[in-house]
Amino acid sequence: MAEPVLLGMPTPPTSPRGVGNLRGDETFPIAARAALGNAQLRANLGHATQTIRAKRAQVVGEVPGWEALREAGRQLKVHTMANLERYLVQLEENVTARGGTVHWARDAAEANEIVTDLIKATGSDEVVKVKSMATQEIGLNEHLESQGIAAIETDLAELIVQLGHDKPSHILVPAIHRNRAEIREIFLREMADADPGLTDEPAVLAGAARKHLRRKFLSARVAISGANFGIAETGTLGVVESEGNGRMCLTLPQTLITVMGIEKLVPSWTDLEVFLQLLPRSSTGERMNPYTSMWTGITPGDGPQDFHLVLLDNGRTAVLSDEQGRDALNCIRCSACLNVCPVYERAGGHAYGSVYPGPIGAVLSPQLTGIEDNASLPYASSLCGACYDACPVKIDIPSMLVHLRAAHVETHRAEHRLPTAESAVMAAAAWVMSDESRWTAAVRGARAGRVLGRKRGVIGPLPLPLASAWTGSRDVPRPPKQSFRDWWAAEHDRETS
Ligand code: SF4
Repeated sequence: MAEPVLLGMPTPPTSPRGVGNLRGDETFPIAARAALGNAQLRANLGHATQTIRAKRAQVVGEVPGWEALREAGRQLKVHTMANLERYLVQLEENVTARGGTVHWARDAAEANEIVTDLIKATGSDEVVKVKSMATQEIGLNEHLESQGIAAIETDLAELIVQLGHDKPSHILVPAIHRNRAEIREIFLREMADADPGLTDEPAVLAGAARKHLRRKFLSARVAISGANFGIAETGTLGVVESEGNGRMCLTLPQTLITVMGIEKLVPSWTDLEVFLQLLPRSSTGERMNPYTSMWTGITPGDGPQDFHLVLLDNGRTAVLSDEQGRDALNCIRCSACLNVCPVYERAGGHAYGSVYPGPIGAVLSPQLTGIEDNASLPYASSLCGACYDACPVKIDIPSMLVHLRAAHVETHRAEHRLPTAESAVMAAAAWVMSDESRWTAAVRGARAGRVLGRKRGVIGPLPLPLASAWTGSRDVPRPPKQSFRDWWAAEHDRETS
């Protein structure tokens, strides 16, 4: 059994409604249906996920002790979560001792206020940003805009999303749903300094973004980042990235504000030995990240001279309090589970509503918000288990999905006296299956279903009140002429006669 965790809050709050980007406007089935109708989106996603999967498989296959490395990553995370309170205090002490300031944010609203006040204190109305899931989660850009502060995304994919007035659809590749022709159109439309002769060659598009961002890097006085890791023993923060934009943001401006979820802690530097092998291979399919930036407090005369760390809860303590769900906090946001998920590959990230899409989003978002606000997400999975196999820290997402489905059913049962249609069907099935004669009669009766599905060999959508919800998205196999039981009895009779 896992070690007990107590952070001093008897009823941990979930992420509040009305702020941030953890909830969608539609349920997953409705949003996914619309996404599935977009052939271009499906083609973009299929191509991108297949490419990343192949790269990942190759570099993971090169590591002889990959499974041992995964197990080490899992154990480090489990230990850290079980001792989070101690390590967070240690992190705060060390950041403070090295000249930084630590702020504690209970939720998205509080974090947004803290960051806004810090920026206003500098007199700036424009900030540059390193790609950060935590700031997307709390809706920081939207909040800053409402306060008259422009937040400029400097990661290429985030910039594409921002200029396209779009939403990210992947943890690592936020513009995975866009192809290069679409990106060219966005740049021509939105970048005042874009060359009218811009082509859709990747290098040309990257060059246009670089030119556009260079002026921002050099003029910005405040930068905002997330953190991939916070090292408790020294108070060091770390960001890994591929483009160098993060390095510019983390070193050039006078003030640096980092928003980090409280689960991003590691106890010591030596733990990075494990995670810096697992993360790049699982995310971008690279042996190491091109840029790994680490900073500890402030260094006089070198880099930002004012450093603030905002530690964000926003429902994480609630996740931590659920013994069967807390492993979702072990996630290192590599996105390997998204890239192998057949549901994500077809529906794309927007269908999940939350900034955390795919398998990890299906277990993390409902826990951060409370199951009733993201009740459809745990069902957005075939439970095939590919996510578990791919996860570098061995998060058992399928078991967690089943746990959350059960939690949803229990919540519904407690709130509604009448059973759902599904639970009525399940109760009837249990009654039939618990008696041999009833089951035999039911199997014989099912043969009448052979009149359906004669043409295709499967039974398609049925009208109400039959199993219309079930068959609306699945084909049912046409019942065979002879059941297994009848076949078995016939074989047995033949042998004994
Ligand atoms: S759940 Fe595992 S595979 Fe998915 S993003 Fe997190 S660490 Fe990566």
